[in-house]
Amino acid sequence: MSISIKPNTTGLIFAMREEQEGLQNFISNKKVHHIAKREFIQGEFYGHPIVMVLAGIGKVAAASTTNLLIHHFGVTQLILSGVAGAADPSLKVGDIVIADALLQHDMNASPLFPRFEIPLTGKSRFLVDKNLQEALQNATSQFIQTMPAHFSASQIEEFQLQTVKTRTGLIASGDQFIHDSHVLSELKQALPDLLAVEMEGAAIAQVCDEQNLQFAILRTISDSADETADVDFLSFVKNVAAPYSLEILKNYFENRKIQID
Ligand code: SAH
Repeated sequence: MSISIKPNTTGLIFAMREEQEGLQNFISNKKVHHIAKREFIQGEFYGHPIVMVLAGIGKVAAASTTNLLIHHFGVTQLILSGVAGAADPSLKVGDIVIADALLQHDMNASPLFPRFEIPLTGKSRFLVDKNLQEALQNATSQFIQTMPAHFSASQIEEFQLQTVKTRTGLIASGDQFIHDSHVLSELKQALPDLLAVEMEGAAIAQVCDEQNLQFAILRTISDSADETADVDFLSFVKNVAAPYSLEILKNYFENRKIQID
């Protein structure tokens, strides 16, 4: 099937199948395309053209998928939604982090270049577009206010979602599931403003920076990146993080519609 490119398409990227659970049911006029071992679902979500894709885990998978979204589907902005480990003591499982900057924590070409700097670019941090970031912050705050409508009292109790908060700041990505408090504290010493660690965001950021596209990264804290990180990880992603993503993205696109009309 040939792909017809729609103007103002948003690419919605997920790393894990469990993170995108439920979202497909809200996509209308669906067309499915298979490229490079991935399934791209093109359609409309709350009246906006989108392409949803499961990128896979890690920086290469994320970068490759970002390029496919740009070149095959002509996306003009990208949003990744998923889970991350907390890197700041103020954050607990169930809180939400919206990136204002992304960095690759496993990039280290020192002493040739400073630690974290992407060689020959002079950059270690990729900044998120302020408007897109603020629109996601609003969508997230709106979601937090309506949480009791989306989770039962027993789920709120089980996953300890009584006082969910949202923070904006630095997210670092690397090809490593961090589950070691020593690794985390070394990273935190090098990057005191670090809020969360994950495996894809900064790769998307670098590709978008090269091609002047807007991107945003939204992460629900699924673990504390320490020795307990793998406990009930998938259950949390399915039961908590996936509904979070769905509701926040719904709010984001609904609000955008109001602004356009
Ligand atoms: N156990 C999972 C593998 C998940 S890898 C499985 O069996 O499928 C972790 C995924 O969640 C990545 O996509 C990454 O972006 C994010 N993530 C969550 N917590 C993380 C952590 N502590 N360190 C790195 N990535 C983390």
